[in-house]
Amino acid sequence: MKYIFGPVPSRRLGLSLGVDIVPLKTCTLSCIYCQVGKTPNPTLTRREYIPVKEVLDELESHFKSGVKTDWVTFSGSGEPTLNSGIGDILRGIKAMTDIPVCVITNGTLLWDPQVRHDICQADAVMPSLDSALESSFHKLCRPHPDSKIDMIIDGIVQFRKEYQGKLWLEIMIVGGINDTPEELHALRNAVRKIEPDTVQINTVARPPAEVSAKPVPLKRLEEIREYFGENTEIIASFKSDSKKSSPADIDDVRAYLKRRPGKVEDISSALGIETQETEKIIKQLEDSDEITLKEYFGKHFWEYKSQE
Ligand code: SF4
Repeated sequence: MKYIFGPVPSRRLGLSLGVDIVPLKTCTLSCIYCQVGKTPNPTLTRREYIPVKEVLDELESHFKSGVKTDWVTFSGSGEPTLNSGIGDILRGIKAMTDIPVCVITNGTLLWDPQVRHDICQADAVMPSLDSALESSFHKLCRPHPDSKIDMIIDGIVQFRKEYQGKLWLEIMIVGGINDTPEELHALRNAVRKIEPDTVQINTVARPPAEVSAKPVPLKRLEEIREYFGENTEIIASFKSDSKKSSPADIDDVRAYLKRRPGKVEDISSALGIETQETEKIIKQLEDSDEITLKEYFGKHFWEYKSQE
């Protein structure tokens, strides 16, 4: 499978089948906290980066396999709404299964009526909004030069008005950048305009693109949650005891690490395999020089080398 991965336990969506419809790393932004590395050239150009038919063929064989899946989730190596075929893929999924579909997006293209139309078939849309001030938006998300934060916020507001499904807004809090009173005040005003179903507060938990992206402690996240008020939650870790029906092999672990750095226990939990088995596969990948170990705040993550 080239374009789908998992199902992996997601902190928010249970067993989530990932659908990755842009090549690594095709995005409108280059966030300093991105776990898939820097975006060489942020773009606003929509096109069929991955052919719709190839994605739907893989999804069809996954659904036929009967593997337990709670959600189908567009996420992965970049910004999924850059693929101009996303509307056709969503339509194709809806014709194949009743499993709910979520689009995780950075929200930067929602000013475009065609993008809003394309993803309105999803059961949930999870846009991110990390800053409501132009200067910190640039510092944190390093957008394409034509992206302006006011235009992005207006796009999310408009989408909320038109969209009937669940809108879960994610805010990534990065220490020393968007955790100041001024930043939080501007963000809260934007959230009030958007009126999402929930606000999900997150912080940096995996090795980021830039070492300057620092997490904030849980206590500070709790204060921020209070500040944003009701319908705001801190995203907690997700643990799953689900087991894969067949043993994971090296390709599963490789596919996992190509999309995100992971600790041995994350990989084992995600793929439903024993820790010892994961360690053996990790050793093979290390011996073949495909992965490297990185330390981030005292924790050790394996990372695929081509991400650097
Ligand atoms: S975090 Fe998401 S939006 Fe930001 S650069 Fe990475 S893929 Fe793009």
